[in-house]
Amino acid sequence: MQDPIRTITLTTVDHGDVTFTCPPWCTAVHEPGGYRVDISHRSDDRTLTLPTRRVHTEVLTLALESRPFTERWPGTAPFVNGDHYPTRVAGLECMAIELERHAETLRTYATRLALILAGGAR
Ligand SMILES: [Zn+2]
Repeated sequence: MQDPIRTITLTTVDHGDVTFTCPPWCTAVHEPGGYRVDISHRSDDRTLTLPTRRVHTEVLTLALESRPFTERWPGTAPFVNGDHYPTRVAGLECMAIELERHAETLRTYATRLALILAGGAR
């Protein structure tokens, strides 16, 4: 089922009442009383974790975002944000490549540790 279209009117301190439509992925609660340029659509966070012996440690948080009234970078088109700088498609692909490199490093350490524990290496 398609998410319902949310059209919202907020009172801003610099442009009075501002009406806008949220994209389907926006789950933000838009609060009145701010500046129009600060209005941003945002999806729920998705946190990537790694299992450790006791807890899942957080690696990276991702969320879709757009800022429909900004005149600055990253512009009004959607991007991915989280606990890092706004990122577009190419930046996400670079991050994925780097995570694959980190996975190889983890496998190298696992192999090395297994050899040490087996008495085959020091
Ligand atoms: Zn929104």
